[in-house]
Amino acid sequence: MVELRSVTKRFGSFTAVQDINLSVRAAEFMTFLGPSGCGKTTVLRMISGFETPTEGVVLLDGKDVTLEPPYRRDVNQVFQSYALFPHLTVADNIAFGLRMKKVSRIEIAERVKRVVDLVSLGGFEQRKPGELSGGQRQRVALARAIVCEPKVLLLDEPLSALDAKLRHQMQIELKRLQQRLGITFIFVTHDQEEALTMSDRIAVINKGKIEQLGSVNEIYHQPRTTFVANFIGEANILPATVLERGDERVHIKLDGKLDLVIRDANLAADTESVLVSIRPEKIHIEKQHPSGDFNVFEAEIAEEIFKGATDELTLRHESGLELTACAANESAHEECFAKGDKVWCSLHPNDVVVVQEE
Ligand code: ATP
Repeated sequence: MVELRSVTKRFGSFTAVQDINLSVRAAEFMTFLGPSGCGKTTVLRMISGFETPTEGVVLLDGKDVTLEPPYRRDVNQVFQSYALFPHLTVADNIAFGLRMKKVSRIEIAERVKRVVDLVSLGGFEQRKPGELSGGQRQRVALARAIVCEPKVLLLDEPLSALDAKLRHQMQIELKRLQQRLGITFIFVTHDQEEALTMSDRIAVINKGKIEQLGSVNEIYHQPRTTFVANFIGEANILPATVLERGDERVHIKLDGKLDLVIRDANLAADTESVLVSIRPEKIHIEKQHPSGDFNVFEAEIAEEIFKGATDELTLRHESGLELTACAANESAHEECFAKGDKVWCSLHPNDVVVVQEE
């Protein structure tokens, strides 16, 4: 549905977006995730036509639109600021695009009613934007974009003005809406949790380049670089030396301190040192010696931080190696783990992931 081929954007001598190649499928929920200033909005603006690439080609539904103005593209954009007309009612704001397209009055009324129901704004049709909450305004902006039934909807941090609870609620509503409508969504955010909640695939962008493109599962469980591992979720990132290679497993020494077995990560034959990423929740902690064969070690809980649903634990191995782990707080009445406890840890070889330095 959307294809970017070798797209680069320079502002003067500054390269904001560098050689991006990307295909977004029809009805897919694709998210551009990255830190502030990495180029997410610029990529979106080249898809909507508000910016022209310095090099490369933008295709929509197979057609080269690189030089087409925004109004000639079957794409709608929901802006961070919502950009609603303050003097128009909710219904008139939503109907605006259809009026511009000279759709008949009867059809406008029908289509507006349908999207008002879709975004649960029934009863608010005659209010002005100033009489709505942030979340309701956001839904008006969405309804206004959806009512024109674009093939592609671009959303630039549309939830950033909402409080945490409403934001989470809207993430789920938006995802459901996208599935119901079957529209291609391209969503921009710097919030990794938001990206994981909503997307089919995520393009992690760093310094104008796609650092990794993959399903939410791939991005989370198999980060390819230290940047991706750090930006999405928590990670212990440590150097390791390769000790021995087996058929399917590789023996490594983590930070010169702890022997581990990891899965064969297609390492080049002469690789001697690597960086690995270990997610805190992948370290299983028990009070008794576990039955597993691989990567079992004893550690002391050096620190415990209460985080509500989980405890963040700092594990200290006798070698001095420290790892961050987390444990579910299953019961308020039973203290599961406490500072100073000796515990047994185990780590599946698949959960020690080799990553490239950023
Ligand atoms: P944020 O999350 O803060 O919105 P972003 O990832 O969307 O950031 P962009 O808005 O795409 O980032 O900007 C990428 C880089 O390009 C930034 O360094 C920005 O300052 C620069 N930039 C964007 N638009 C222009 C412009 N019109 N002229 C010059 N530089 C620009």
